[in-house]
Amino acid sequence: MLFRQRDAQLEAEKMKPIKRLLIANRGEIACRIIRSCRLLGIDSVAVYSDADRDAQHVSQADRAVHIGASAATESYLNAEVIVAAALKIKADAVHPGYGFLSESTELIRRCQEHDITFIGPSIESIAQMGSKINAKRIAQDLEIATVPGYNGDSQGVADLLAEANRVGYPLLIKASAGGGGKGMRIVHNKDEFEATLAQAKQEALNAFGDDSVLLEKYIVRSRHIEVQVIGDSQGNVCHLFDRECSIQRNYQKVIEEAPAANLSPDTRKALFDSAVKLARHLNYQGAGTVEFIVDADSKDFYFLEMNTRLQVEHPTTELVTGVDLVALQIKIAQGEALPFKQDSLSVNGHAIEARVNAEDPSNNYHPEIGKLNLYREPIAEGLRIDSGVAQGSSISPFYDSMIAKVIAWGETRGLAGQRLLQGLGDFAIAGVKTNREFLMSLMARPAFHQELTTQYIDEAFPDGWQAWGEEVHAAIAAAALATTQETKRNGMFSGTPWQSLSNWRLTTDAGFPAVTRFYLQQGESTRTIKLVGGQGRYLVTVLKQQEIYVKEKEIPVKEKETLGKEKIVEFNILLSLSDSHCQVEVGGSRGMLDIAIDGSEVHLSSSKLNRSYHFLSLEEDLLKESSAQSDNSNIIRAQMPGLITDVLVSVGEDISQGDIALAIESMKLINSMRAPCSGTVSKVFCVAGDNVESGTLLVEIEPITA
Ligand code: ADP
Repeated sequence: MLFRQRDAQLEAEKMKPIKRLLIANRGEIACRIIRSCRLLGIDSVAVYSDADRDAQHVSQADRAVHIGASAATESYLNAEVIVAAALKIKADAVHPGYGFLSESTELIRRCQEHDITFIGPSIESIAQMGSKINAKRIAQDLEIATVPGYNGDSQGVADLLAEANRVGYPLLIKASAGGGGKGMRIVHNKDEFEATLAQAKQEALNAFGDDSVLLEKYIVRSRHIEVQVIGDSQGNVCHLFDRECSIQRNYQKVIEEAPAANLSPDTRKALFDSAVKLARHLNYQGAGTVEFIVDADSKDFYFLEMNTRLQVEHPTTELVTGVDLVALQIKIAQGEALPFKQDSLSVNGHAIEARVNAEDPSNNYHPEIGKLNLYREPIAEGLRIDSGVAQGSSISPFYDSMIAKVIAWGETRGLAGQRLLQGLGDFAIAGVKTNREFLMSLMARPAFHQELTTQYIDEAFPDGWQAWGEEVHAAIAAAALATTQETKRNGMFSGTPWQSLSNWRLTTDAGFPAVTRFYLQQGESTRTIKLVGGQGRYLVTVLKQQEIYVKEKEIPVKEKETLGKEKIVEFNILLSLSDSHCQVEVGGSRGMLDIAIDGSEVHLSSSKLNRSYHFLSLEEDLLKESSAQSDNSNIIRAQMPGLITDVLVSVGEDISQGDIALAIESMKLINSMRAPCSGTVSKVFCVAGDNVESGTLLVEIEPITA
């Protein structure tokens, strides 16, 4: 009834009520938009690619349309299929989220052709701000300060070099069409200029199909401060205050907050005025962000660019203003006026957001793919989690690596920070490596409470970030695995090892002098771990790294050196009562860990770490186990999740027991899968390039009958 009244009112005022909204995005932002749709009584429609069939945004939306293959260019980046999906399901509006097509004038044009409301600003606003060169010129015309540099028409190398020399070094070459830090390069002196220009142009061409660049003085000690703006179709424009996003890596935001700390009222006001001036000039409709750089030393500020969409960090603004930005975007697109005036808005407290990514910060932030074997979001006062995954979700290689955003609110910045640290600590994720610990170590530094600059991460970790106590954790993982194997042997295994052992405390002295040896895979090499003991009490010896030989897709692990520079860690394991918590004691100090074991993978998670360990010896044991069962087995199943790199057999081919049938790459290591019996290959269920889960049926063999 309420909604019918609302629709009638909107129609009477010549507005366009939105009844069914298609979300042209995925992951956390799609889930975020669904929440606001629900609030407004709007039917939400998810779109999904092949890789996202089982994704959270699909199950959370009221409806879902399949739009194509996993590669983003064939699904989320294809404006034609998005609009076709909207037409098919009779959606009257499209919300693009951020990234993908959020700043695509083509998507708006196609929406307009079919009378579908695009939730965002006009084509003109997007086009004007989409080019950094153009945006800077508009800002300059409005007398908004911009970073000294060159944003002229000529793109000739000689002209650019002359301009670079005029601007001075260090300077930044930026792709005019740039975003996400792509096509951006620092030049330290004039000798470097031409080569760096060529690299930046090439990168810009590959990423954006446009190699025009602008030059800017590089402000070494700078802060990234941005202003959230919002405008309606009646010409009202307000700002929703500022955010600071100075903690960045590779020009990409890592931790963001609202409002910026340590900013003078004068600078803050000047930033707001400049942002609103620009938005008014553009006749801006919807949510946008005007980004500035503030020189930490001189306090001068400069316009950087405007993002004509919702930002990843918008929840921080929502938490301090109480405004639901997504709901507001939708209302504005329906033709409604802003429900507030500037004077009625205020900032309440402080909010900080951390982006939790599937990546390995100890290994140059290498993106991680795989299954979230353990995923438990923290719940606490003042804590908000925006995510698009659940336990069991897969992190695929096709899209960005963000798993979730943890956003904390507090009356003060200190309290917001404490809550965020606690929240990150309580976030249990295993199956893929994440930057959770890295984020915590960024926030735990005293410098976090002083003025921030974009140099923060480099200053915090000049030699790169390294996880604490790697060897200790590896030893714990090995001990957990040994305990599981022992339990299995003793017939006590049912389901997860830790559940099966509930109420059973391992407090007796080591009863078994058995020596167990595991090979832990670490990148391209392995580490040998030796355990003496049993029943939860082990003397663990972690040996130095061993080399691994990969020969004809086989993996004979050879120990090149033995007990040379060994390191010994002694500890006890005590199992907790009812869940996967495990109390660990290492040389007198205790900690609690979540442990999940999946075949030969051991996942450790605690408030300080989140790691997965892949042991080879068990893998080989498993393979042996499967051939041992070969008397009555004629199938090959994946013993681990991974990528099929080679299928060496085809249907109709004869094969002998022990022959290699296919190869699977798991955790960067190639493992051979052998025929469990002799016979004729009757079915092959996979091709090279398939990503398979552990247990997937791969090959079936018609055994030779005697
Ligand atoms: P993108 O659109 O690729 O994100 P931006 O222009 O928004 O590029 O800049 C991204 C980040 O790069 C900024 O937040 C800032 O940290 C850094 N940056 C940009 N311009 C400068 C500059 N002139 N001097 C120093 N750092 C800069």
